[in-house]
Amino acid sequence: MAERTLKKDNPANSEASQVQLEVILEALDASQDGIAIWKAIRGLNEAIQDFSLVLMNSAGAAVAGQPQQDLLGKPLGDVVGPDTSMGLRTVFTRALMQGNGIKDIVPGVDGAGVPGFYENTVVPFGQDLVFATYRDVSESVEERERLLWLSEHDYLTGMPNRSKLQASLDECVSSCKKNKSFFGFVFIDIDYFKNVNDTYGHSVGDALLVNFVKRIRHSLPETALVARIAGDEFAILLNTVKGEEQLRELMEEVFSSMSRPFVHDEIEISITCSAGCVLNDGSEHPDEIMRISDKAMYEAKHKGRARYIVQTVVSAK
Ligand code: GH3
Ligand code: MG
Repeated sequence: MAERTLKKDNPANSEASQVQLEVILEALDASQDGIAIWKAIRGLNEAIQDFSLVLMNSAGAAVAGQPQQDLLGKPLGDVVGPDTSMGLRTVFTRALMQGNGIKDIVPGVDGAGVPGFYENTVVPFGQDLVFATYRDVSESVEERERLLWLSEHDYLTGMPNRSKLQASLDECVSSCKKNKSFFGFVFIDIDYFKNVNDTYGHSVGDALLVNFVKRIRHSLPETALVARIAGDEFAILLNTVKGEEQLRELMEEVFSSMSRPFVHDEIEISITCSAGCVLNDGSEHPDEIMRISDKAMYEAKHKGRARYIVQTVVSAK
């Protein structure tokens, strides 16, 4: 037991101190966090070579996958495995050298080999000792990642949403300005989509939106960003376009991918769409790019739908 190992090194020998120590050790064992004390092993020139285990509570031993009593005195690698030990050795050494605590979230595996995320806290104390805690934060990390994903994606199609599009457009405008290159921005809206909902129902409309965006995605290079703005309105960011000719070629691909009818529950639905496209060299503000492409899309609608209109907006230089 951890209790016995500490007794040996414990300078306090009064009965009261011993009782206090036992209570502390019991409390450590009751914790769900892995808790351990490690001692630096110094080699020639006093350089820290490794760390050996002085104490580890039950939760820590469970993560290590070995009985508590078998771990005491062992070097880091034998307790936490060779991969994890490299990172921990560096953090422990840094904590001792700097003389202050370090908190970090690192990937790791539990005793059963399941990967997750762990929050490590390392606090140096006494003579070459570090107090380390190890908390499984996989659930909160996953929840944070899930919330981040939700904040940047559309729930129905799984595509980036307006906020992600805005951020990507901002970046694209800056990099094109810097690199003197072109990009294309497209607003695309399905024609008479309300009729699909009214005729076949909302769920068929939903399925069509999902397949519509899939077809756009497959008709374009991997580097293109396809986002859902709202309802039946989507945007495409083509961040590597050589010029107007290539932008038109890509739009032909998008429009030809819509020429086959969409099939859902044996219902065949043919649609068309209208798009407003802007070719720019980073000379316009992102809001202006959106405004111009939106206006061009409405112009395409007014001219009879089923078409795209390209506006080339480049600096005079
Ligand atoms: P237009 O040619 O002028 O674009 O006509 P439209 O009928 O497509 O009209 P508009 O683009 O203005 O309206 C889009 C419609 O899309 C309005 C709404 O009923 C429908 N819609 C919006 N969000 C969803 C959704 O998540 N699922 C489904 N099924 N329909 C949606
Ligand atoms: Mg529409």
